[in-house]
Amino acid sequence: MENCIFCKIVNGEIPSTKVYEDDKVFAFKDINPVAPIHILVIPKKHYESVIDIPDNEMDIIADIHKIINKIAKEMNFEQNGFRIVNNCGKDAGQEVKHVHYHIIGGKTLNWP
Ligand code: 5GP
Ligand code: ZN
Repeated sequence: MENCIFCKIVNGEIPSTKVYEDDKVFAFKDINPVAPIHILVIPKKHYESVIDIPDNEMDIIADIHKIINKIAKEMNFEQNGFRIVNNCGKDAGQEVKHVHYHIIGGKTLNWP
């Protein structure tokens, strides 16, 4: 998708600190971390938000969650816990219109 910063990160036009990559999923450090651990996990394919993912392509969400678990175990923060956040649309304050899951952790988090 033209002019999507996360598509540009996937194809290397915009640099990022990569954490993980396979044929479908890409993970990188958030440029403006809100906690000691702040990683974004995205599908390589462009979808504006989760509401736009067709039912028959929803396996990508399981793929993303598998990678979130893998990252948490490999980076050794699964024991302390962490938060997974997906902002969907205007009221959630979604800024980047390419599906992304935030992994946030490394400290005790307040809610909401
Ligand atoms: P949203 O509010 O859409 O859920 O979150 C977008 C996230 O993307 C924000 O946490 C923001 O810091 C991050 N972000 C925006 N632009 C870039 C960028 O160019 N590189 C990286 N690594 N993160 C970005
Ligand atoms: Zn995109």
